[in-house]
Amino acid sequence: MAKASDYLVAMCDGHGPNTAGKRTPYIASLGRSIRENEFNKPVVNMLEGELKRCGFRTLQTAPTDADTGLTARTNAANAAGADIYISVHFNAVSHSFGASTAQGFSVHIQAGSSNSSKAYKLAKLAVDELAKGTRQINRGVVKQNLAITRQTRMPAILVEGGFMDDEREALLMIDPAFQREVAQELAQAVCKYFGVAYVGGGSLSTTKPVTVARDYVMEDDRGPAVSAMQSDLNKAGASPKLVVDGIFGAASTRAVKAFQTRYKLTPVDGIYGVKSASKMAQVLAPAPPEKEANTVAETTYKRVAQASASLAAGQEWVIENAISDGTYPDRPLTRAEFWETLRRYNATYVRK
Ligand SMILES: [Zn+2]
Repeated sequence: MAKASDYLVAMCDGHGPNTAGKRTPYIASLGRSIRENEFNKPVVNMLEGELKRCGFRTLQTAPTDADTGLTARTNAANAAGADIYISVHFNAVSHSFGASTAQGFSVHIQAGSSNSSKAYKLAKLAVDELAKGTRQINRGVVKQNLAITRQTRMPAILVEGGFMDDEREALLMIDPAFQREVAQELAQAVCKYFGVAYVGGGSLSTTKPVTVARDYVMEDDRGPAVSAMQSDLNKAGASPKLVVDGIFGAASTRAVKAFQTRYKLTPVDGIYGVKSASKMAQVLAPAPPEKEANTVAETTYKRVAQASASLAAGQEWVIENAISDGTYPDRPLTRAEFWETLRRYNATYVRK
């Protein structure tokens, strides 16, 4: 088996923390936006730790918070004779949530690379590892003309961990469990690429995918959260009714999409997340009790109100004509009382 120490892995965090535009839209639940670097940097640091533990030599081409240019990054890797290069990013196609439905991870290599190239082999291994963890759309290996992949003289990949303009994925960026998972997956891909044994660290399992606490359920999920969702969708009028079996299948996806469409939630992706769940809570909330006057404690209104000439005259008239007994003059009329008043007035005065 190859020795890890024979290899130098270069890596970088994509952009500096202050690079313009590289951030998520404003996230109301956080009260701020998330910078792309808040994902890239910790993942690169963890990836470096993982690779060092496995015995690799490593080089961060932009280890500081300074805004290091792309050419400076690739020059450093070329000068050091790195064997591979990994650049960690988070994608975006717009600056607002809901403007696009794009989501998922992808691994990019230089345009024109063949599927038998070393870069493709590394990228494919990375994609396959990333697909094992947190459920995301797998956008696969993408061939593109990028400075990092073009200017490096070694096989280079650019990893996009998700989309900053997808609210669910944006929140994953600052989830330490997700960051660690991505770093581990990339480290395992590197080990496979070089034919080196992956050395897992601490309590982190190397055989089963890391499970990340998440606030959404989607197709193929199972368990009580799925049952609860199915039951709620039924209560909210899902048609046809779902079987509440805790298995998120195609019928559940259709019902979630119908719910999202009905309540104008975006994107309509069939993933039952925070937006869908909070709308559901709103939809299923018991209606506030109607404020009928007759449900108000009698003590709120005085049985006999302040005397005034017009009140006295009116009071006398309704008592005389059997429309009311003249008590509680300040109390609002219910619709039922109003109807009855009209009926009596009509019967007594209009029909005659
Ligand atoms: Zn980026």
